[in-house]
Amino acid sequence: MSTPQTIYESLHHQGFSRRDFLKFCGISATIMGLSPSMIPRIAKALENTPKKSVIWLSFQECTGCTESLIRAHAPTIEGLIFDHISLDYHHTLQAASGRAAEQARENAMKEHHGDYLLVVDGSIPMGNPGYSTSAGISSLDMLKEVASGAGAIIAIGTCAAYGGLPHAAPNPTGAVSVEELITNKPLINIPGCPPIPAVIAGVISYIVTFGQLPKRDSLKRPITFFGQNIHDRCYRRSFYDQGLFANSFDDEGAKKGWCLYKLGCKGPVTYNACATTKWNENVSFPIEAGHGCLGCSEPHFWDAGHFYQALSVPTREIVGTAGYALAAGAAVGVASAMLNKKKKVDATKNHETVTIHDLERTSS
Ligand code: SF4
Repeated sequence: MSTPQTIYESLHHQGFSRRDFLKFCGISATIMGLSPSMIPRIAKALENTPKKSVIWLSFQECTGCTESLIRAHAPTIEGLIFDHISLDYHHTLQAASGRAAEQARENAMKEHHGDYLLVVDGSIPMGNPGYSTSAGISSLDMLKEVASGAGAIIAIGTCAAYGGLPHAAPNPTGAVSVEELITNKPLINIPGCPPIPAVIAGVISYIVTFGQLPKRDSLKRPITFFGQNIHDRCYRRSFYDQGLFANSFDDEGAKKGWCLYKLGCKGPVTYNACATTKWNENVSFPIEAGHGCLGCSEPHFWDAGHFYQALSVPTREIVGTAGYALAAGAAVGVASAMLNKKKKVDATKNHETVTIHDLERTSS
């Protein structure tokens, strides 16, 4: 039997029936955040879609993004690699090493020029090329070389998307994001420290299936997963609405599972899918484990953190996504909080949203 060329052929080759294939399409729709009505379109696309060549570059990072990906459960990393993509280069997961590894990268770049998917985790140091190298090539040169032939780029994790922890003041390596260096390619950011594995897998599946990036917000994040803040989907929200808050991590409120707002939770200004997609096969997420959201998927979260300090917006004023601009506006002169002038406009929803940077606290 010849080598399977398309995703459908790959599944057929593994002994899956047509019915299994349609089930696979249904699961794919779910992980991509699409409605079941899209299943026929997904099936048609996958019947004709070749497995996508993926080159994954890791720069200034902690391998947490890869650790996250290998915990993806739908599809599993094995399913993703065997059914959707050809992972041609990845420092941590590839079997090859040394010259053979670099040869695999060069071959993939040549064979799939203009079409391969470049995935990057980690920021790029601009202070000195020697701060981060692979095979004797600086991160900057490696990124430029591989990006030049890529069809699209995914910046995975807050370091690749916004500079992340290496970018935190005083930013000793001069760390920058992928987007600051590569401006002539379709790019999507999947921030998070680390990002949710199901979101990584879902976005890769979408690109492979439809040959284009999913719809993105003004920070180039996939709207399906980053379109709402955590607060609006948090299971502790009813306590928030009732004014029931934990005041310390071991008081009665904490034991009863009350809202963590006063303990510094950044859920109201953090856009991500943690409250619904969750982690470890939908088992839990930080707030469910008793710790407030740190806002790790927002730009500059490390510097803007004040992790255990409550947001200064008056709690009663926060009434959901549409209310943030009002809430923050009301906060000026009322609760020692003020809006800076960088309100971000979510063009897709045509309403103003306030991010973690828009709240500048005055010391009390
Ligand atoms: S402040 Fe945090 S813990 Fe409270 S409802 Fe909002 S997201 Fe949940």
